[in-house]
Amino acid sequence: MGFSTDAIHAGQTPDPVTGAVIVPIYQTSTYAQEELGKHKGYEYGRTQNLTRQSLEANIAALEKGKYGIAFGSGLAATHALTGLIKAGDHVIVSNNVYGGTYRLFELVMKDYGLDFSWVDTSDLSNIEKAIKKNTKLVYLETPTNPMLNLTDLEGAANICKKNNLTSIVDNTFMSPYLQNPLTLGCDIVLHSSTKYINGHSDVIGGIIVTSSDKIHERLRYIQNAVGAVPSPFDCWLVLRSTKTLAVRMERHNQNAMKLAEFLVESEIAKKVYYPGLRTHPHHELAKKQMRGFGGMISADFGDIEIAKKILKNVKIFTLGESLGGVESLISHPASMTHASVPKEERDKLGITESLVRFSVGIEDVEDLISDIENALK
Ligand SMILES: *Cc1c(COP(=O)(O)O)cnc(C)c1O
Repeated sequence: MGFSTDAIHAGQTPDPVTGAVIVPIYQTSTYAQEELGKHKGYEYGRTQNLTRQSLEANIAALEKGKYGIAFGSGLAATHALTGLIKAGDHVIVSNNVYGGTYRLFELVMKDYGLDFSWVDTSDLSNIEKAIKKNTKLVYLETPTNPMLNLTDLEGAANICKKNNLTSIVDNTFMSPYLQNPLTLGCDIVLHSSTKYINGHSDVIGGIIVTSSDKIHERLRYIQNAVGAVPSPFDCWLVLRSTKTLAVRMERHNQNAMKLAEFLVESEIAKKVYYPGLRTHPHHELAKKQMRGFGGMISADFGDIEIAKKILKNVKIFTLGESLGGVESLISHPASMTHASVPKEERDKLGITESLVRFSVGIEDVEDLISDIENALK
């Protein structure tokens, strides 16, 4: 099936009792059992919930995987992945991942005996160089937040296969519509469904997709054993949102491309980071492994006062953390999403005080452009 057909139908069948076309919100903590040891496959709400199962099957189809495992947040999903390894194991991580991933790994999980190496995975040889005897996982994010650097997923997956490592890709920035890491040979895809998948800025959620029976079995066990499951209502909202994912992403792509071109051509920004620009260092790779360039742009205005003026005066863009919603957001990575990354580390990555990140929504792009022009007046 095509993406949009799967988005609207996969994982969903009309309710057997009433024929309801939309999967109901199964707001129940427990289920009636017919007799000892005889039930309909549903025992307890943390373990089985049909609204959640429908969402898991839906997103698994969109990511071209066999299994979806949903969590209460993107970080709960990332945390669940640490259940694939033990104290003493080593993980290689892209050095400019989501700030919360850095905080979880370096400031929480390290105390449980896990060892992390932070490397620039946009150069694949850095992955090979970082492999140790105890390396188990390679955790990639592409494009990265907020610098929008790309990692060659097919190349990285090949290195992982050769060295018997499990490859994980945080695909939040692309959504399953624009990039499918499993089809490029990676083992696990992770999303903060809070972002593009839900797309309406009203749910916190996470999901993992894999085609490996073994990985699925372990993560399903952890989902139940640790218990960071999403609510039936949140699952229902996300399931409703995936129906329009394709049309939303098309518009995010178009608007971001136009806004990036405006920022370059008007010379308002000193540097514009967007994979759709021919000047982007990974533009060719973007064309190869992505089906569009997405809705995220970072721009360095060279002067903190200009950045502050934009952040303060925009009217349609909302100053706030998060991304991927239908409404445009603007943020200041150095003091917001990446505040927990040490300053010297931030400077190395290019996350300067004058860097502004745009999550370009699906409003009329002419209005978004005038919003920035007016903010500077
Ligand atoms: C937001 C985000 C996360 C964390 O997800 P939450 O739903 O906020 O827990 C992880 N990775 C990326 C790329 C994100 O943008």
